[in-house]
Amino acid sequence: MKMTHVFPTYQRFPFAIESGQGVHLTDDQGQTYLDFTAGIGVCNFGYQNAAIQTAVHQQLTKIWHTSNLYENALQEQVATLLTNGDERLVYFANSGTEANEAALKLARKYTGKTAILAFNHSFHGRTYGAMSMTGNPSIQAGYAPLVAGVQFADYNDPAAIQQITPRLAAVILEVVQGEGGVFAGQAEWLRAVNQACQQQGVLLIIDEVQSGIGRTGYRLAYEGYGLDPDIYTVAKGLANGLPVGAMVGKAKLAMAFGPGSHGSTFAGNALAMAAAQAVLQQLTPAFLQTVQHKAQSVWQVLTDEIAPLAIVKQVTGKGLMIGIHLAPQVPVAKVIAALQHQQLLTLSAGDNTLRLLPPLVMSTADLLAGLAKIKTVLLALETEVTA
Ligand SMILES: *Cc1c(COP(=O)(O)O)cnc(C)c1O
Repeated sequence: MKMTHVFPTYQRFPFAIESGQGVHLTDDQGQTYLDFTAGIGVCNFGYQNAAIQTAVHQQLTKIWHTSNLYENALQEQVATLLTNGDERLVYFANSGTEANEAALKLARKYTGKTAILAFNHSFHGRTYGAMSMTGNPSIQAGYAPLVAGVQFADYNDPAAIQQITPRLAAVILEVVQGEGGVFAGQAEWLRAVNQACQQQGVLLIIDEVQSGIGRTGYRLAYEGYGLDPDIYTVAKGLANGLPVGAMVGKAKLAMAFGPGSHGSTFAGNALAMAAAQAVLQQLTPAFLQTVQHKAQSVWQVLTDEIAPLAIVKQVTGKGLMIGIHLAPQVPVAKVIAALQHQQLLTLSAGDNTLRLLPPLVMSTADLLAGLAKIKTVLLALETEVTA
């Protein structure tokens, strides 16, 4: 099939996904795949999760849209689950970029300041504000003038702490940089950034759009580092594939986000909220523990069998958010295509990095089976390039 009526903004693989069941996908040629992508870190509970499907179906038969002109018990329930007993408040959006846009607007309005510190190799989305905070020149190319006042520092660089001064409205960062190459923040550095923000009167915004909702074995990746952001954003995994985003901020920020200050027609959509509620109800401490256990088995294999391969430069990430950095003579596109032939779907990130974001419900056996395929394909390519 050739797509001729859609703007070619995406590089697409030459097949379509038609259906999914559990952690497997089937394409339009009847081929089945083990899924190491979860969309792009979206379908953390796999496909046709009974509780999510039932919740959405029940909501579908009641009502699927109401405006935000009325009280909304479902939004309140999801917000209560999301904030998990702490004093934060939620603003619902429809995507990750919108959640970050809300964070940027709130940070400026609340502080009365404009400057933002973001990081190289970050990704925060594609709208003007979120794109302007994205430390990737190829994503910004051709779109000038960008939103003013954003400066960049190197991630994990101690020198960046000196740039956190009272003239900043906010610092925005990912605890694990996803699109930029699956680089985890160093715990000490992240804590130093958090502390500097608190001391200098600068808001800390943590973008958990990819790393949140269980991906690293914690509800939110920052919890694994003991951080205390003023604002965090989630999206991808929140409704397991229905469009949703959320910005979660400390209660003190509410004075800057009163009636009329921000909004969206679709935000907090009933179907998305029903799905998010079913996701968050399943995101229990016991479930997160299973993710951590599975991640341990996975990292054992990554460390012992994948990292030592000659064409692997390093393996990075945290939990089930994994980057296998490949030597330049092995293009990641070639690896992804070879794995597709072995019925395994994978992603890329950053600079020639194979990215793995399997559904969090995948069994250890399936996770290890997928890794075995990756090892076989990398070994074959290694023989090819060194021959
Ligand atoms: C995907 C992503 C976004 C953008 O989310 P969209 O829903 O595509 O707008 C923002 N931040 C991070 C860290 C992401 O991974």
